[in-house]
Amino acid sequence: MAKPPPYAVPLREISDDPVHRSFTVTPQLVGEWLKGLPMRDALAAPDPDPDAGRGAAELDIYAEGNHVFATGTFKGDLTVACSRCVEPVKLVIDEKLLVTFMPKGDMPADEVDGEEGAEVPAEDLDLFPYEGEYVDMEPLFREQFVLAVPYAPLCKEDCKGLCPQCGTDLNTGTCACQKPIDPRLAGLKGLKLPSA
Ligand SMILES: [Zn+2]
Ligand SMILES: [Zn+2]
Repeated sequence: MAKPPPYAVPLREISDDPVHRSFTVTPQLVGEWLKGLPMRDALAAPDPDPDAGRGAAELDIYAEGNHVFATGTFKGDLTVACSRCVEPVKLVIDEKLLVTFMPKGDMPADEVDGEEGAEVPAEDLDLFPYEGEYVDMEPLFREQFVLAVPYAPLCKEDCKGLCPQCGTDLNTGTCACQKPIDPRLAGLKGLKLPSA
């Protein structure tokens, strides 16, 4: 029999009487999960990155029929690049979890096809499939990190970013570059544009 994944909880240990389980997520795993994410790769961090992030889950797990429920907390942090200046930004995760695991065959059809990477309707985010003799918590933990990354992370709200011409970090330095005028907009110069 194949070795169960690290976050597998055997079904035989789950009953209608909640069992408490603690889990930790290592920086190495966080780094692996976030690989390919532009604001993660932009850091050019070592691999494995000891500062990628970490997580800890405290869950009560119980079953009703063949549905398995996990309720508790997930806390952790992860580091991505600021979308303006590319400096590291530490994001904090502090989530209350209430999720349902159900046999793969019982999942709504769109979820089974969807699997990884597909758009999942927001109301179904707390629904995960399981199959075989255990419930695997890994997709749940991975999701906490992926969802924690905003579209454009910022080190601070008013981050000045890098000069697009010379690359100077404008938070810590200044440069003599002139702001270029987009030739397509040059003709509009002097027009008052509504501020976005
Ligand atoms: Zn920044
Ligand atoms: Zn410059």
